Amino acid sequence: MSPVRKPVLPPETIGILGGGQLGRMMAQEARRMGYGIVVLDPSDDCPASHLADEHIQAEFSDANAVQKLAAASSALTFEFENVDPAVMEGLESFPSLEPLFVSRNRWREKSLARKLGIATAPFFPVNSVTDLRMACANPEIQACGGAILKTCEGGYDGKGQWRLKPEQLEAAAGPLSDSDFVGLLESDLRDLLSATTGPPAASQRSESERAPGNAPVLTAGTSEVVADSAPFLLEGMVDFSLEFSIVGTGFSDGSFHCYPPIENQHRDGILHKSLSSSNLDEVASRRAVEYARSLSEHFGYIGTFAVEFFLAEGEPVFNEMAPRPHNSGHLTMDAKLSSQFEQHIRAICGLPPGPNSSLCEAAMINLLGEDNSQLRGLEDAIGIPGLRFHWYGKKEARSGRKMGHITAIHSDLSEAERAVEKAFQCLGWVRQ
Ligand code: AMP
Repeated sequence: MSPVRKPVLPPETIGILGGGQLGRMMAQEARRMGYGIVVLDPSDDCPASHLADEHIQAEFSDANAVQKLAAASSALTFEFENVDPAVMEGLESFPSLEPLFVSRNRWREKSLARKLGIATAPFFPVNSVTDLRMACANPEIQACGGAILKTCEGGYDGKGQWRLKPEQLEAAAGPLSDSDFVGLLESDLRDLLSATTGPPAASQRSESERAPGNAPVLTAGTSEVVADSAPFLLEGMVDFSLEFSIVGTGFSDGSFHCYPPIENQHRDGILHKSLSSSNLDEVASRRAVEYARSLSEHFGYIGTFAVEFFLAEGEPVFNEMAPRPHNSGHLTMDAKLSSQFEQHIRAICGLPPGPNSSLCEAAMINLLGEDNSQLRGLEDAIGIPGLRFHWYGKKEARSGRKMGHITAIHSDLSEAERAVEKAFQCLGWVRQ
């Protein structure tokens, strides 16, 4: 538990590193609560700047600018995980840098999950073609019937991932030469693998260390994990019945408060739709909440974060953690007494939690842009009862860019889902 802090109260100022939609929605809630906002972002018209008292327009790597942000704020937070620790030297932030450091690397976060007793898919670090073949040949991976190779860092929204088919797994374990095996892989992966250098991760470890159940031990600090970081991770395919997230907040009194599991549906690796309730049974639900709580307690986490899970054979399986408010939690803005953003602001300001109680059920759909296009059909969509429209104020639409979201609320979840689908059908992108 962190030492007791003097609460940060309005009209004091909150500093946000990153001015995208998450920064904007944090700023919205903070403004409503009466706080001042200063945001640092290189883009001159970033979404959060529209709500900020001050916009420091600078690169995230600009240590002087980050110092200026900290000097202007009573509580400092982030909207993304790739914060360079060098620019944060001597600064206090909420959350602290450790969860950001762990969660931005898939090997580190999955190893930590395993250490905390959280179920994961089998996974192995991959540094080379030899590692990849050894990992593919592992009985636990073979038993999954398929595997995904993921970059440990930098991948998001389904990018930096390659699905290996059963025949590729079989070939990996067979007598093919390395070059023939590599010839079976997608060309971009082939190029990346041939560019990797350094000692093979697998061959550095003993058999027992390599067993998925025996990931290297992590301590409270993180330095031991750094040496273990490989460029890729091979993960067994999980045969899941649904995907869901636990969105919750750690507070400075050590408590953790979360919403019931939120069901998520993805398209092309990007979140498409979230539902305020899921078909999880009580036991699975409780277990997932306990998993999220154990992460919160491990880090002494202060702020909102999300843990994404698969539900496989009725059990939650950890996929990844996002150390910030999460897209799947956007529906809390309309469906809960305290949204994920309000809880984040409360936590980072050292205030007590707000009530998480549900006002209604909700279904949310993301609005992703298309190149040089404008959204049409809003007048019809917005007329649908219970429809709430959120637009992030981005001037330029680009393919796959998160431009806004719509949430339909109703006392009945299937009605909310029907309404949000109907609204989504009304909307379309038209080339300018
Ligand atoms: P991620 O970036 O790890 O969240 O992956 C994006 C999406 O790919 C997930 O939401 C899943 O739909 C799918 N996916 C990722 N890892 C696995 C896995 N081990 N098994 C099955 N599907 C996966």
